Amino acid sequence: MALTITTECINCDVCEPECPNEAISMGDEICNIQTVLCTECVGLYDTPQCTKVCPVDCIVDDPVNKESQDQLFAKFKRLSEEAA
Ligand code: SF4
Ligand code: SF4
Repeated sequence: MALTITTECINCDVCEPECPNEAISMGDEICNIQTVLCTECVGLYDTPQCTKVCPVDCIVDDPVNKESQDQLFAKFKRLSEEAA
C-alpha cells in the first residue's frame, strides 16, 4: 500500500529528498505523500526510504490506499515509462 504522513510530522523536510518518486511535498504544517506516486519504493529499494530517515516515525501505511506488491510494482513500471 502507499504510505501516508500523520499529524505527528514536524515538517523537517528530511524525507522529501529521499523519495525516488518525488511523491513527498512540504505542506504548511506537515508533509504530504501523493498516493499516485508512492510505490512504497518497490522496484528500487527493499524498504521505504522515507521511513528510514523520519525522526519521529510518523510515516505509516495508508489504510485507505491498500495496494498489493504486484500493484505497487505495476505503478513503479508505469512511473518509469512516463519518466522515460
Ligand atoms: Fe517515496 Fe518510497 Fe516514501 Fe513512497 S515509500 S513516499 S515512494 S520514499
Ligand atoms: Fe515529517 Fe518525518 Fe518527513 Fe520530517 S521526515 S517532514 S517529520 S514525515
